[in-house]
Amino acid sequence: MGRVLKNKQLINTRLATNYGGWMYCEKCNENIGYLCYQTYDRLEFNYQCKCGSTGSATLDFEDSKIGEKSRDELIIAKNRLCCPKGHDPLITILEKKISNYELYITCKSCNQIYQKKNIEKE
Ligand SMILES: [Zn+2]
Ligand SMILES: [Zn+2]
Repeated sequence: MGRVLKNKQLINTRLATNYGGWMYCEKCNENIGYLCYQTYDRLEFNYQCKCGSTGSATLDFEDSKIGEKSRDELIIAKNRLCCPKGHDPLITILEKKISNYELYITCKSCNQIYQKKNIEKE
C-alpha cells in the first residue's frame, strides 16, 4: 500500500525511491543515510555533506498529522535511529559522510516529533 505524498522537496539530495530508501548527496553521489519507508510521518533533514555541498530533504504525506514536539531523544539500534517509545526504526544517518545536520522526524505510530542535531566544531 503506497502513501500519497503531499510535500516533497529535495535539495542537492537524491532518494532511492519515491519516499524512502537510501539517500544520496547529489554533488558527490555518496550515500548519506537511509530513510525507512513505513514508519515516519514527516521528515525535515538539513545537512552539510563532507564534500562541502549542503542539502535538505522535506517530505510529508496527504494523511500526515501535525506532530507533537518530544523532548525525548531517538535511540540507536543497529545503526538506525529509532523512536524511543515503540522502537520503530526511522532513519539512518551516516555521520561519517556528513559534517553538520539537523533532523526533525515525526514517528507515524506515536505522532511525536524527534529532533537531532550535530554541529561539528571547526
Ligand atoms: Zn556530497
Ligand atoms: Zn513512535
